[in-house]
Amino acid sequence: MALNLLVLGPPGAGKGTQAERFARRRGIPRISTGDILREAVQTGTEIGRRAKAIMDRGELVNDEVMIGIVKERLDREDARSGFVLDGFPRTVAQAEALDAIMAGRDPLVVVDITVPEQQLVRRLASRMICEACGTNAPAGDASTQCGRCGGRMVQRTDDSEAVVLERLKVYHRQSEPLVEYYRSRPTYRSIDGAQTMDRVAADLSAAIEAVGNGGRP
Ligand code: AMP
Repeated sequence: MALNLLVLGPPGAGKGTQAERFARRRGIPRISTGDILREAVQTGTEIGRRAKAIMDRGELVNDEVMIGIVKERLDREDARSGFVLDGFPRTVAQAEALDAIMAGRDPLVVVDITVPEQQLVRRLASRMICEACGTNAPAGDASTQCGRCGGRMVQRTDDSEAVVLERLKVYHRQSEPLVEYYRSRPTYRSIDGAQTMDRVAADLSAAIEAVGNGGRP
């Protein structure tokens, strides 16, 4: 059985860090739509050129484009034995499209990471990522060089205070309704993201085990 995991939560909840860690441990791909878009911006593709201004304002790229990106990615061979989706879905329309894409595949396991708003704002204000490979700096690490590739650590252009406030507004308006969308499913769990990274990781694993066999055959 494949483990098809969705990690939900507001910006700054630690979705990327947890998704990356979990996916690596399980040997399944982490699919981050934010990373896919940032890469498209960097390489200057048509989608990247159009997405840049939208991302810089903290708004959402349109559903049709995002659904196309995810459908294509989930159809690839490496996602057949499971995946961790991070940053998608972000709207109910995307969630409905994902359910259609998942028809005939193993069920989605949905974990929502919750964190109080003030803590999110604080975390995002100090978050640094590598401009070369996109890796997040570990919490509390103020080094100016990426531990993975040696690239320069910079603030994300959409982590400025004004854009963060807009992203949180967009989250409440467009993405929070996803909790209602998934809450009644037996494979839905909510976990407390205001703990240490290790505790959150342990709760994430426990939540996944609790909803079944954790995807193991
Ligand atoms: P993230 O790295 O997940 O915070 O995403 C960064 C930005 O990419 C978001 O603020 C949106 O502008 C865009 N984005 C990422 N995923 C999606 C999505 N599923 N739907 C719409 N826009 C997205």
